[in-house]
Amino acid sequence: MASYKAPLRDMRFVYNELFDYSEISSLPGYEDATPDLVDAIIEEAAKVCENELFPINRSGDEEGCTFENGVVRTPKGFKEAYRAYVEGGWGGLTSDPKYGGQGMPSSIHVMVEEMMCSANLSFGIYPGLTYGAYQSLHAHGTDELKDLYLPKMVSGEWSGTMCLTEPHCGTDLGLLRSKAVPNDDGSWKISGTKIFISSGEHDLTDNIIHLVLARAEGSPKGVKGISLFVVPKFIPKDDGTPGPRNGVSCGSIEHKMGIKASATCVMNFEDAQGWLVGEMNKGMSHMFTMMNNERLAVGVQGLGLAESSYQAAVEYARERLQGRSLTGAKNPDAGADPILVHPDIRRTLLNIRAFTEGARATAMWVARGLDLRKKHPDEGLRTEADDFIQLMTPMVKALFTDFGFDATNAGMQVFGGSGYIRETGVEQYVRDARIAQIYEGTNGIQALDMVGRKMPAHFGRYLRRFFHPVQAFIEEHAEDESMADFVMPLAKAFGRLQRATGYLAEKGMKNPDEAGAAASEYLRLFGLVAMAYIWARAAKVAMAKTDGEEAGFYQAKLGTARHYMERILPQSSGLFSSIMAGSKTMMSFADDAF
Ligand SMILES: Cc1cc2nc3c(=O)[nH]c(=O)nc-3n(C[C@H](O)[C@H](O)[C@H](O)COP(=O)(O)OP(=O)(O)OC[C@H]3O[C@@H](n4cnc5c(N)ncnc54)[C@H](O)[C@@H]3O)c2cc1C
Repeated sequence: MASYKAPLRDMRFVYNELFDYSEISSLPGYEDATPDLVDAIIEEAAKVCENELFPINRSGDEEGCTFENGVVRTPKGFKEAYRAYVEGGWGGLTSDPKYGGQGMPSSIHVMVEEMMCSANLSFGIYPGLTYGAYQSLHAHGTDELKDLYLPKMVSGEWSGTMCLTEPHCGTDLGLLRSKAVPNDDGSWKISGTKIFISSGEHDLTDNIIHLVLARAEGSPKGVKGISLFVVPKFIPKDDGTPGPRNGVSCGSIEHKMGIKASATCVMNFEDAQGWLVGEMNKGMSHMFTMMNNERLAVGVQGLGLAESSYQAAVEYARERLQGRSLTGAKNPDAGADPILVHPDIRRTLLNIRAFTEGARATAMWVARGLDLRKKHPDEGLRTEADDFIQLMTPMVKALFTDFGFDATNAGMQVFGGSGYIRETGVEQYVRDARIAQIYEGTNGIQALDMVGRKMPAHFGRYLRRFFHPVQAFIEEHAEDESMADFVMPLAKAFGRLQRATGYLAEKGMKNPDEAGAAASEYLRLFGLVAMAYIWARAAKVAMAKTDGEEAGFYQAKLGTARHYMERILPQSSGLFSSIMAGSKTMMSFADDAF
């Protein structure tokens, strides 16, 4: 049976040793977030995840959500766990204290988020969407809307959703048909059908606050005519308690491959009363406040599940006795050696570990950017942080979820046939991880965002926020022999990335198919280099401590960094060749030959 222990030691390494946490706790408004407090928070979060959420992960998968007469029920134990989550104040960890939140930095949130995804992804989706909806309302709602909804969303008494997708449109939201007609009192009547709505209906909260994209009467076609509305399940009374039922109902829930305890709903809006959020026809950009947050969160889902899968696989590899080590018996008293002795198993485990630790540190790098963007007194630095986040968001979403899925699959492989059997619990990780590559904009769309929007933005300004620190690090350590095993491969891969960027910038301008054809490979190349930079920095920190008190931890860190450079980063060479091959062959392939 799989088990889960939060990787607190590695989290501490990331926020306290690889990065300097005082940089965050010295920001105005974050003074309370001292390293001691961060420690206490992540320790508490670990207890909730290990003791409350993980034990209902598999039973939640077995039971799934049920739908009867418009009512959706979450699996056994979810209501109690949600109550404990709300009472613990976890819903408002980073939210604005004005609305009852604790105003903690995102760099703490990202660790809590990872633990929740590891322990019980289906559960985590409910509060995750509430937080996204909170962010959008907080950024774009009127004070009246904020005062009415945010305190209850921050406390977790009410939950949130994101209603974009319709039967005929997912990626191409310009086609959406849901419509909004003005009422005399300034509110709107919203009608239409939304599909695949996560947490659209459930029994965890007293009210559900839907953020809905719809086209107001008379608005232009396409994405320029879309507005954002808040549509509550129960219309709040003046005293803030849920009032009359609104014209929104759940038509059915989906039966799906994974995240079975997360309700995925068809939502029908029939003249439902809604209120405009932000400016008319700016709905897409307002929704992007939520979607950008969700994209980072979805990336962390890939990381979280990879971590759980890794832990289960390591435990199994230590126990399972099969075959003998190629260099002679390591466990001569027993009939066979543990499978951990076999190079192929070790390669598999190190591949996963190089990803999880690298991704955890990369996620912290981005979360640090979120904190700087929000609180740094210098406007120029806030803009720089924003540029960096814009650039990194599609990469984190797509790379982490692709790697995450591969990692869960690899973890299952370590179990042999037992991995395929439900009882061990590891096949659930594979099924749960798969959706993260699809929702919040498929990974193919993330790649297009990266090459089509983020790469050329402001004549490459976003890119420079990444290229400059990497270049500076390489130059700073070019003569340092002790770092050569890390800096040389990084420099080579970085060179490939620079050449690929130049090639795509030139070719993509002339022929957009060139950029489209190479987008996914480019995003992966970019992500591999980003993680290589992070791994090189981690190696530098670890190297100085390999003889100390925790020698084992730092030697393992260094060993994993080496594995990344030797076994994973070389993929950059193949990706570079694919990118340079251009689009001609695929685009000239006859349609009817497919
Ligand atoms: C379990 C689950 C939960 C979900 N939760 C939510 C939710 O809470 N709220 C919500 O609004 N939606 C939600 N979704 C919907 C999800 O975001 C969409 O399914 C996803 O964005 C893809 O849209 P689609 O399914 O319509 O695929 P399509 O848009 O039809 O795409 C099909 C394929 O074509 C590719 N493609 C499409 N357009 C292009 C293009 N221009 N260039 C290159 N390739 C392209 C895509 O990458 C994809 O591979 C959820 C979906 C699922 C399955």
